[in-house]
Amino acid sequence: MSELNLILLGPPGAGKGTQADRLREDFSLPHIATGDILRAQVAEGTELGREAKSFMDAGKLVPDEVIVGMIVERVAGGDARDGFLLDGFPRNRQQADALGEALSGLERHLTAALLIEVPDDEVVRRMAGRRVCVKNPTHIYHVDFDPPKHEGVCDQDGVRLIQRDDDKEETIRTRLEVYHAQTEPLIAYYDGAGVLRRFDGTRDPDEVHAHIRATVATLRLEENL
Ligand code: ADP
Ligand code: ADP
Repeated sequence: MSELNLILLGPPGAGKGTQADRLREDFSLPHIATGDILRAQVAEGTELGREAKSFMDAGKLVPDEVIVGMIVERVAGGDARDGFLLDGFPRNRQQADALGEALSGLERHLTAALLIEVPDDEVVRRMAGRRVCVKNPTHIYHVDFDPPKHEGVCDQDGVRLIQRDDDKEETIRTRLEVYHAQTEPLIAYYDGAGVLRRFDGTRDPDEVHAHIRATVATLRLEENL
């Protein structure tokens, strides 16, 4: 069986985490979410977490030195041997180059960059209403678009839902600017490499999921030919 080495691209709030949670189950891929990893480090109070926190609170990217080594190591690790689903990395050209070099060094290649497209005004609505499970941050809800069965409580874990520190209006605007300036150029980069696949992220989550799943299933068939 060949590998599925996938990255999810798109603005903050596009639905990358929502889709990754579903795709992980469809294709048994490890979901490597840089934001979740960083937030766990912040919660544990590690040195990395302390370094990252001020950047995250300001809506800026944490420095490449903090993140690149960690992700490259993770991609080379045992559970990602048959593939991975990277969510939130790469976010700039240097990170994309580092990932490309790491994969070449392992004689692997990127299968696809899955781009979820959503306009800025929708992104703002989504981030402002996002709530996440206090125990498992991959359980993501929205107060209007994807509410839990009981207000403020995770359907799966029965624990409290919280708003992320950086889902505040001023930070949301900075994060969008950072996305347009630093991450958006990766669309042309991966398009040029022939691995870009685009999805309309304004559809409802089930529809977006169905489209991505069908594309990834086709990619897997092609990899096996
Ligand atoms: P969202 O998808 O809503 O933008 P993430 O959870 O992916 O949020 O990221 C939250 C924050 O973590 C970012 O604003 C940034 O500060 C930091 N971060 C996440 N991934 C990276 C990365 N690849 N490089 C630098 N900083 C990152
Ligand atoms: P990202 O990981 O790209 O930052 P999330 O998956 O965390 O994005 O989704 C951001 C917010 O938007 C969450 O509150 C989520 O419930 C909601 N959301 C995700 N996908 C959709 C969709 N297709 N339509 C409406 N809301 C969505």
